[in-house]
Amino acid sequence: MKAVLVVDMINEFVKGKFGSERARSIVPNIAALLEGARSRGWPVFYLKDSHREGDPELRVWGPHAMAGTWASEVVDELSPKKGDAVIEKRWYDGFLETDLGERLRDLGVEEVVIVGISTDICVMHTAWGAFTRGLRILVPEDCTESISEENKRWALEYMKTVYGAEVVPSYRDLLRGS
Ligand code: ZN
Repeated sequence: MKAVLVVDMINEFVKGKFGSERARSIVPNIAALLEGARSRGWPVFYLKDSHREGDPELRVWGPHAMAGTWASEVVDELSPKKGDAVIEKRWYDGFLETDLGERLRDLGVEEVVIVGISTDICVMHTAWGAFTRGLRILVPEDCTESISEENKRWALEYMKTVYGAEVVPSYRDLLRGS
């Protein structure tokens, strides 16, 4: 079974301090993917940065997406629906120090569709977490973004080469024939 992992589509990275037009551009595609996923019974997991004082990432990026604030909430356009899971994370990798891996295993998930931002940071590190748990990885290009086209391309290529991820042009390719 497939599950969808929605990485950091939260106010901070879409509309806030690190928001960008590139991040906003993928919101409708992710919304359409999630609708298709739910109707197929694929579990949906939101992974959201929810930092606490002292987290190592804050030394690199400054304070961002602090737990319990507006910045760490999923954007309204992609609000979690009944049955979706929301997991708070403190690292780029959504598997690290969370129960995501156990929950996917308990559901019998073998393949994860990873979407969101940024392709070269949290998406890529979460793909590593998935790889180390034996999960197959699918990334639809039109549901992930980065600070630049160059960073996005580089990270997609890296995930393909190093984690054996399957990168498809569109979420439509995933919904078709399944
Ligand atoms: Zn962070």
